Amino acid sequence: MRRLCVILLGCYLAATFSVAAPRIETQQQIWEFMEKYGYITRDDMVNGMPKDEETKTKSIIYFQKMGNMTMTGVLDEDSMNLMNTPRCGMKDMESFADMMRRKRYALGPRWDRTDLTWNIIRDSQDLPRAQVESIMERAFTAWSDVSSLTFRKVSSSEPDIKILFAAGEHGDGFDGRFDGPSGVLAHAYFPSLNPIGGDAHFDEDETYTDGTFSGTNLFQVAAHEFGHSLGLRHSDVEDALMYPYYRGYQPNFQLHSDDINGIQAHYGEGNGKPEERDTPSTPLDNCMPRVTLSTQTADGSAYFANETHVFRRTGNTIPAGYPMRIVDEFPGLPSNLDAALFYSPYTYFFKGSEYWRFRDRQMAGTYPRPMSDWGGLPNDVDAAFVWSRNGRIYFTKGDQYYAYYPGYGVSSYYPQPLSHWRGLPSDGVDAAFQYSNGYTYFFKGSNYYRFNDGTVQVDTGYPLNTAVQWLGCNPNELVGPTSETEGDATAIIPSLFVILLSTLIGICTF
Ligand code: CA
Repeated sequence: MRRLCVILLGCYLAATFSVAAPRIETQQQIWEFMEKYGYITRDDMVNGMPKDEETKTKSIIYFQKMGNMTMTGVLDEDSMNLMNTPRCGMKDMESFADMMRRKRYALGPRWDRTDLTWNIIRDSQDLPRAQVESIMERAFTAWSDVSSLTFRKVSSSEPDIKILFAAGEHGDGFDGRFDGPSGVLAHAYFPSLNPIGGDAHFDEDETYTDGTFSGTNLFQVAAHEFGHSLGLRHSDVEDALMYPYYRGYQPNFQLHSDDINGIQAHYGEGNGKPEERDTPSTPLDNCMPRVTLSTQTADGSAYFANETHVFRRTGNTIPAGYPMRIVDEFPGLPSNLDAALFYSPYTYFFKGSEYWRFRDRQMAGTYPRPMSDWGGLPNDVDAAFVWSRNGRIYFTKGDQYYAYYPGYGVSSYYPQPLSHWRGLPSDGVDAAFQYSNGYTYFFKGSNYYRFNDGTVQVDTGYPLNTAVQWLGCNPNELVGPTSETEGDATAIIPSLFVILLSTLIGICTF
């Protein structure tokens, strides 16, 4: 009798602890969902609700865009049904740039090698171990079939990708706890140096099945989570595996071309070595960690470029479609430009011993022309700008700078040491410009500096991160798994909204 009581108590407790994820209905539940998945930041909320109608509408539109719905900005029945569809627990939107991106896959950090190991650390109660292993094997194969990746099951307790089944809170913090049957099905961690990087966790409160329409198909959920383990974010392509919502068992599962394009962007097509790791200045999915050129055009747009691509910024917005190839934005310009100068109404571009003149996006005249037109300037300049304090034109090259007087040229006093510009890196800058707010900014590596014309030195609080502040990039996309600055996943993920806040605030205030 006593044993029966214990068993009954056990069942009672089990039942109590696996209450189904509640249906999202109330305003509080709706906005918890919107915040959890990145459609609104806590800073844009008051008492758990959007701070104003505009914010509310915007969040709903982002949610509807990601869900491939008509973007009405109003939560109709379809929206509420989607919100209540079982799904992955990973965020959908992680940055301002994310919300602007075109329809396709999105990349997170990647592994710096292609031979990865995995193991199941905690078993599923739903299926026998051997069957789960075979399902996982198939899920990995879906990715290795179309990329240079290989996966190997090991018996180690510290493989690259640790798989575990767990209910409720399971060791990765309050925000990472599972929610009972339905709702969140699973989540995974992006590649990182932290031991949790790459790991995939499955909600034990789901009923995982194999090859049947009942329950939740473990293969499909695992293949999706491994996409995250390999560095893919959610895609807004509805038929892609990396779409955030579970769409029911698909007997003839195949990766979508969007998934394949995503994994190949990270690891190459296969049959050999992966492509070279992106250099820091190559655009990632929608970001540019380092700029080599900054300028404006007469229409008020600000431009930032690296060797091959250009970002355009109008007001506090990055218009859709950027970064673009330089030649697509400015027909006739080569890549690998040195510097650019906006001297109203023209924008000048410099490369080696030549320069080009544009008015907005059209070449204004016959170019290139030789740098000798700019009497006294050297070739291969680094940066050019009109200084907000005196309206004069300056060029920098290495640790020196030149003042240029239109109609006269460079005076014999120049060059002078760049260290006159107190607070700037004295060995040189990559880019500089005067922004529409009147301030002069300097760019070096991944950072930028704002110059204070009153005190004639760099303002306190600088440097700041260029990509995050100017381009709205997700800080997590700027560091790869091999970077020393990569934080550990446990620290980054719970505090992601804090970083996101600084991103959204930062893009408005310099
Ligand atoms: Ca769940």
